[in-house]
Amino acid sequence: MESYRVYYDSVNVRMNTYLVTAINLSNYAIGESDKVLVMFSKELGLVKAVAKGARSTKAKMAGKSEALCVNKLLINKGKSLDTISQAESIDTYPKLRTDLKRLTTGFYLAELTQAFAEGLEAECQEYFNFLTKALKMLEDKDTDPTLLRLQFEMCLLSMLGLKPELTVCVNCRKLITEYSIEAFLSQLGGVGCKSCMQSAASLPQIREAEGIENIAQMKRVYLSPMVWKTLVMALSQSDTLNLGPDPRMSLSDAQQKALAFACKISKRYLEDRASKTFKTLSLLDSIT
Ligand SMILES: [Zn+2]
Repeated sequence: MESYRVYYDSVNVRMNTYLVTAINLSNYAIGESDKVLVMFSKELGLVKAVAKGARSTKAKMAGKSEALCVNKLLINKGKSLDTISQAESIDTYPKLRTDLKRLTTGFYLAELTQAFAEGLEAECQEYFNFLTKALKMLEDKDTDPTLLRLQFEMCLLSMLGLKPELTVCVNCRKLITEYSIEAFLSQLGGVGCKSCMQSAASLPQIREAEGIENIAQMKRVYLSPMVWKTLVMALSQSDTLNLGPDPRMSLSDAQQKALAFACKISKRYLEDRASKTFKTLSLLDSIT
């Protein structure tokens, strides 16, 4: 009886570990010197585990527990929290860490990943490869971080099945052109044409669907044709999860301005979908 129990326990211990390759998204302190790492893994999507001693600078896990580090991990299952027992560093993106704009953009991609992780679990391997490829490209000084960010956001929306409607009016369903584009309506998931936006009486579908009495009550952002085109271009590549080669394009001043505005719109749209505010980029906005 005794030997049976010993055998059973040892099998159980082995079954209580798992192996993942994961990228660190964020962490929080626990105990005296430990950290809980929130990670996105290739195998299981979102994973949380304790990195013992990671807050002490001398610990082996200290460097490996930084945000945006990719590690191969052996994790022990626990009753309430799992614990990392072994870690092997795969990538740390060193070039991101010497450039504040690129690093902050990387942190933003991690923040987006954490916010939408549940919806990405079914395609976790594909998403993991996409995220790590995006960070690799972000390290390249020829990559425009703002353009990469917009393309990343559109690809993420596409994977989540939340692509905004940009080519037809969300109300009258007429094809949008650079002459008819008027505004982006985040609540309705897309763009509105000039004739619909200028006439509240022509919005019966919107009123019915959303319970909105008056179009003037709705949050809207006016779009210039150039900003609209920037969004359309980024979205058109999103199905293939293709981030290149456009992020390496050199943009004119007017294109840069349109891109910055397009990014504001897509970030707001993602925030509405996640019902939360993304804070990582605030630091960047305050210094640029
Ligand atoms: Zn319309």
